[in-house]
Amino acid sequence: MDYTSTRSQCSVGSARTIAQGIADDGGLFVPRSFPRLDATAMQKLAAGDYRARAREILSLYLTDFTADEIAHSVGAAYSGKFENDDPAPLVEAGEGRFFLELWHGPTCAFKDMALQLLPHLLTAAAGKVGGGKESVILVATSGDTGKAALDGFADIPGTKIVVFYPQDGVSAMQKLQMISQRGSNVFVCGIAGNFDHAQSGVKAIFSDEAMKRDLAAKNLTFSSANSINFGRLAPQIVYYVSAYCDLVRRKKLVPGQRFNVAVPTGNFGNILAGVYARIMGVPVGKFICASNRNAVLSDFIATGVYDRNREFFTTTSPSMDILISSNLERMLHLLSGGDGEFVGRKMEQLRTTGRYAIPEAMLAQLQEIFFGGSCDDEAGARRIGKLFSETHYLVDPHTAVAAEVCERYREATGDASPCVIVSTASPYKFAGAVLPAIGVKTPPSDGFAMLEKLSETTGTEIPAPLAALRGAEILHKTSVAPSEMARFIRDALL
Ligand SMILES: *Cc1c(COP(=O)(O)O)cnc(C)c1O
Repeated sequence: MDYTSTRSQCSVGSARTIAQGIADDGGLFVPRSFPRLDATAMQKLAAGDYRARAREILSLYLTDFTADEIAHSVGAAYSGKFENDDPAPLVEAGEGRFFLELWHGPTCAFKDMALQLLPHLLTAAAGKVGGGKESVILVATSGDTGKAALDGFADIPGTKIVVFYPQDGVSAMQKLQMISQRGSNVFVCGIAGNFDHAQSGVKAIFSDEAMKRDLAAKNLTFSSANSINFGRLAPQIVYYVSAYCDLVRRKKLVPGQRFNVAVPTGNFGNILAGVYARIMGVPVGKFICASNRNAVLSDFIATGVYDRNREFFTTTSPSMDILISSNLERMLHLLSGGDGEFVGRKMEQLRTTGRYAIPEAMLAQLQEIFFGGSCDDEAGARRIGKLFSETHYLVDPHTAVAAEVCERYREATGDASPCVIVSTASPYKFAGAVLPAIGVKTPPSDGFAMLEKLSETTGTEIPAPLAALRGAEILHKTSVAPSEMARFIRDALL
C-alpha cells in the first residue's frame, strides 16, 4: 500500500509516510487506495480480540512492516498498558446508545489508543528509512495529545520528544500530567498563546531549513506525532471496526446493519479514521460531527464555508478548542476524488485569508456522510447531568458534546438507528466541570479533592494514573512566547 500527498501526486511507502510525518509539499499523506473488508473478513475479525483485530487491520495499511513488527507494536501498546484486557470497551447507556470508551490507557484520554502504538511504528520505520538518525518528535497539544505523546515516547531509544502546550488553555490536571513527566528524552514547554499558536509554531519549525540542517549535524531529524501523522490515524481506524464487530457479536446489530457514530471533534483526526473505516466496509450511516462553541466544523458542514475568522472560545472541552482542523485537508482530498491541485488551492486560501468555500456538489457529498452540530458548555453540562441521573453513566465534557449533538440529530431527523458515541476522556480528567453538572453545588477547588469528591458522589473509582499524580514532582517549568518556540528547541537539543 502506497501513500500520496493531499496536495500533489507522489508515491511513498508506509514506512516513509510514518517516519516523515508530513509530505514534502506541505500536504498530508493519505492512502492511494483503501483496503476493503468483505463479510468473511469481518466475521474473522469479530471472532478475534482487540489485538487480533489491530494486527489484521494495521497489516493492510502498513505493508512495509513485517508481521512480527506489527505484532510487537500492538502487543507493546495494548497489553498491560490499559486498565482492561479490552482497550476499547463498548458500554450501553440508554436504549441504543453505545459509548465507545477510549480512555482506559495511561493518560485517561483517547489519544493513548494511537500514541501507545506510534512510537513502536516510528522506531521501526526510522530503522527502515531514517538513515540511522534519531527522531525528534515535535508536538503541539491542546491538552491530551501532549501527555499521551510524552507517555508513549518517554525513554523509547532513538527518540526525543518536545511538547508545546497553551499555558492557560489546558486543565489543571492536564498540565500537571505534562509538567511532571519523567524520562531522559522529554522536553515540555508552555506557550503564552492558544493551541493554534502552538500548532502554527510547530508547523513553521518543521519547515525551518536552518533548524533542519543544524539538527542533521547532530544526527537528529524531525518527526511528528500530531494527528497529521498517518501513524496516528491507522490505529484509530481499528476501534471503529472493532466497535462494529462487538455490536454484531453482542447481537445489537445484524451484519451489514447501519448504525451512526457521534464524535466529539477538534482536529478532525478521530472522525476521519471513522470515515476510513466506513470506506473499508463498516456500515456507518451518518457521522455526527460534534463541536463545542468553537463551531468552525459544524458550520462548515452546514454551509460549505470554512471560516476561521471568528472569536476563539475557551471551553470546558479544551481538546476541541480548535479553529484549524488539520485533518479536514484529508477529507477534502477524499471529496475531490484526489484532486491535489484543488486541495492545495483551498489550503492556500485558508492560510492567506483564513477562509475557503467548497462547491455545491461537494457540499452535498459532505452532508451525505456528516451531520454537524455544536453545543455550548451549559448544554453539555445538562447532558452530563441527565445521563447520570437517568442511567447512572458518567461522561466527560468532550463526550457530553457528542452525546448532546447525537440526541439533537435523532430529534431533528427521526433516525433511531443505534448510535456509537465515541467517549474520548475519563470524566475524572475534567472533574471541575463534571462535578457541578451532576449537582455538586460547591465543588472543592483543589484538583485532588475534586477527584475524591467525584469518586464519593458517583461510587466510581479514581483512575490509577490520575491518583498517582498526587505529590508528583514538577520537572518542567519553562514557558515562552510563540515566537520563542524555535529558540527553546535549539536550547534543548543543540
Ligand atoms: C483530541 C481530543 C478530541 C478531538 O479529537 P480530534 O481527533 O482532534 O478531532 C476530543 N476529545 C478529547 C478528550 C481529546 O483529547
